[in-house]
Amino acid sequence: MSCSVKTPMNKNMKKIGITTNVPIEVLIAAGYQPLDLNNIFISDPDPEHLIKIAEKDGFPINCCGWIKGIYGVCMEYDIDTIMCVTNGDCSNTEMLMEVLKHRGLKTIPFSYPQEPDETEMQNTLNKLAIQLGTTLEQAENVRKKLLHCRKLADRLDELTWKNNKVSGFENHLWLVSASDFNGEPEEYEKELNAVIGDAEKRKAYPDNSIRLAYIGVPSVYGKELYRFIESNGAGVVYNEIQRQFAMTQQVTSLAEQYSIYTYPYSITNRIDDIQRELEKRKIDGIIHYVQAFCYRGIGGIIFKDVFKLPMLTLEGNDNFYLDQHIRTRIEAFIDMIKRNTDR
Ligand code: SF4
Repeated sequence: MSCSVKTPMNKNMKKIGITTNVPIEVLIAAGYQPLDLNNIFISDPDPEHLIKIAEKDGFPINCCGWIKGIYGVCMEYDIDTIMCVTNGDCSNTEMLMEVLKHRGLKTIPFSYPQEPDETEMQNTLNKLAIQLGTTLEQAENVRKKLLHCRKLADRLDELTWKNNKVSGFENHLWLVSASDFNGEPEEYEKELNAVIGDAEKRKAYPDNSIRLAYIGVPSVYGKELYRFIESNGAGVVYNEIQRQFAMTQQVTSLAEQYSIYTYPYSITNRIDDIQRELEKRKIDGIIHYVQAFCYRGIGGIIFKDVFKLPMLTLEGNDNFYLDQHIRTRIEAFIDMIKRNTDR
């Protein structure tokens, strides 16, 4: 099956910015082209400039860089409708939405249910579909069309942890991009197919390298972090949130798909999912990334207690590069694991 969503996804579709992973199937069914504002921000050639726009407009220095970056994208890029997730992502988004509205943009709030309950999710999706002028049935058709893209993302993930043929950064990039399939699911499918075909022919990474998990929100360091880890004889074989964004698990409905998605709900849902993957992927150590000024960082207290593996917590802000201090901490962390595992 192909994910070609040619019919609903064409040049005439209206762009809609999304502040995090949302039920894009409903948006596509309603004739929108979802664009993840986080991905646009972090792949902008000058993300600092987008943060400066927000600070110049009054966003405080101690506000999370992603929120400021998203605001900068809204001001700089030609996207006038934004879906803001007000429950199940970030409390800062509520005020961001107010400011965007004040600036004249059309904002559409979306709230994940309080609990990952399928019936509640079904009602939430139904309400959203009606609000946007479509039906859940049409959204289910889009889900089926996107299935192949999600299966490809799953295959790429498998090539990372099972076959050691795909790097941690490639894994990060393709899984995180599944939040909006780069706005072009057909292209995503074509390109990822080619990447997988190429990766299958590669020589595997040495299997004595240290296997790391990356948990937490995607970092501001991008490729540099993964490359630096690799240059020290380790590799990331599990990107937690990115895998969640890609929604690679087999499901039979949108309500199920968005209920087993752990990110919007209690940390215990995330812990169960992480624990399963740590064991399955034979992980040696965990990098927990936290964004400066983000409430999610507090969850590290619980992670340190429940995960019985060495853990390094890295905090990034808006510097977009690894400074010497962070490099030294990563080196020392990997060295410590090497000593303890005799590798
Ligand atoms: S990193 Fe944290 S504070 Fe920043 S947007 Fe994400 S959830 Fe909100």
